[in-house]
Amino acid sequence: MTQSHDLVVVGGGPAGYAAALYGAAAGLDVGLVEEHRIGGTCLHVGCIPAKELLETASVLRTVRGASAFGVGTGDAEPTVDLVVSQQRKQGVIDQLVKGLGSLLSGRNVTVYDGTGRLGVDHTVTVQSRSDGGSTLVQADHVILATGSSPRTIGGFEVDGELVVTSDELLSITEVPGRVAVIGGGAIGCEFASMLSDLGSAVTLLEALPEILVGCDADVAKTVRRSFRKRRIDVHTGVSVSGHEPAAGATTVSYGSGADPAAEQVEVDLVVMAVGRWPRGDSAGLVGTRVVVDDRGFIQVDDRLRTGEPGVYAVGDVISTPQLAHVGFAEGMFAVRDLLGESPAPLDPETVPWCIYSHPEVAFAGMTEEAARAAGHEVVVSSHRFAGNGRAMIVGDTEGLVKVVAEVGPDGRAGRILGVHLVGPWVTEQLGQAYLAVNWEATVDDVAAHIQPHPTLSELFGEAVLSLTGRSLHG
Ligand code: NAD
Repeated sequence: MTQSHDLVVVGGGPAGYAAALYGAAAGLDVGLVEEHRIGGTCLHVGCIPAKELLETASVLRTVRGASAFGVGTGDAEPTVDLVVSQQRKQGVIDQLVKGLGSLLSGRNVTVYDGTGRLGVDHTVTVQSRSDGGSTLVQADHVILATGSSPRTIGGFEVDGELVVTSDELLSITEVPGRVAVIGGGAIGCEFASMLSDLGSAVTLLEALPEILVGCDADVAKTVRRSFRKRRIDVHTGVSVSGHEPAAGATTVSYGSGADPAAEQVEVDLVVMAVGRWPRGDSAGLVGTRVVVDDRGFIQVDDRLRTGEPGVYAVGDVISTPQLAHVGFAEGMFAVRDLLGESPAPLDPETVPWCIYSHPEVAFAGMTEEAARAAGHEVVVSSHRFAGNGRAMIVGDTEGLVKVVAEVGPDGRAGRILGVHLVGPWVTEQLGQAYLAVNWEATVDDVAAHIQPHPTLSELFGEAVLSLTGRSLHG
């Protein structure tokens, strides 16, 4: 028998479950197909477990620095028990999964446990994981949200012991002694930071000339300087050629230019953080006009519609920033579009970014370099946390806030094009900066507002205020 719905969503990660919840909230009868666990990468092997373990690292760092506040641990060095941390991590995940399950059942979303394959006429065949049986699910609209998986490179077979991806690293129960992290993007920098705080000796190998591609140059430089101070050995502009295991460890070869094996580093663990593959072809698609490009992304237009009428694709499986919150936004967008509400297309250039390394990074909008390259005449204001009272109080003064504004017709700083933060708790401070960029606010609009004092976030207000030509503290 064929099950029928208004909407069927294939993939239960953030993009997929957002589409299902939002669609159900809009009154649609929704089916949601998931082959592993509802919550997807974000909840099980991505954002949530990574941030939980980064928090463990942060607590350890705080305890190590406690004596400066007169808070003692006696003569004992603080230690970390990752078994306990993993239990705590799993507790957080389980609670979130339970909450998600309640939300889905509360909105009468039918969850199909199995692998979904889209065929002709909006029909999804769901093959059950438990008994192998098939169910046919048909819907007026289909949203594909099949996500991504960690990318690997030749010469580094993932064995879960010496070579791991984020999937395995997030379950470690012992701190590795020496680690090579390959890739200096968001994942690589978060893991390098976390492992270093936990006590590993970390080597970070990045192919591009700088870590954190896409971030403002001043921000990337600040993170790099901080990593250097913490003895994270960062090598940029290098490629890795392979590794040679011996006696429970392995030697990674890397180099720049003509000789990619010029240098070696012996480590106990190699962490691959070289991007994620979209899982474009995992949902069948036989007999449909859905197109998967040669990188594995499902092709969509600016309304997230695939080549098959009534079929959308959202989340990591399309070529937009691979971020859970972008997935949420795309899931909701697709639902609004299929309801005929004509939402304004999402702009991938102005989405919020948050990287939870120490120091943290957060930004929205154009970097100074990108704004100039796009032909804008810009004016920039940078303010350092070193002069911020709250940063001194919490004992974390590394970092800055940088505001990039367009010069208006009157020659004064006008519209805010980008805001770039690096430093303490900046992932929690991005909100007003994100709104300023996406509301297309001017410097004068923002400078008129009061910033609470003493806060870390008043540094953003200060940076904007100084662009008016007058300032208080900077
Ligand atoms: P990424 O693409 O951001 O970074 C991968 C890095 O690896 C790049 O800098 C690339 O130059 C480098 N690289 C690739 N091949 C290499 C090689 N052979 N040798 C050395 N370096 C090599 O990917 P990621 O950091 O793995 O993250 C995957 C996705 O998940 C990204 O879209 C990322 O934005 C997203 N993500 C975001 C966050 C966050 O924002 N906090 C956290 C985790 C993941």
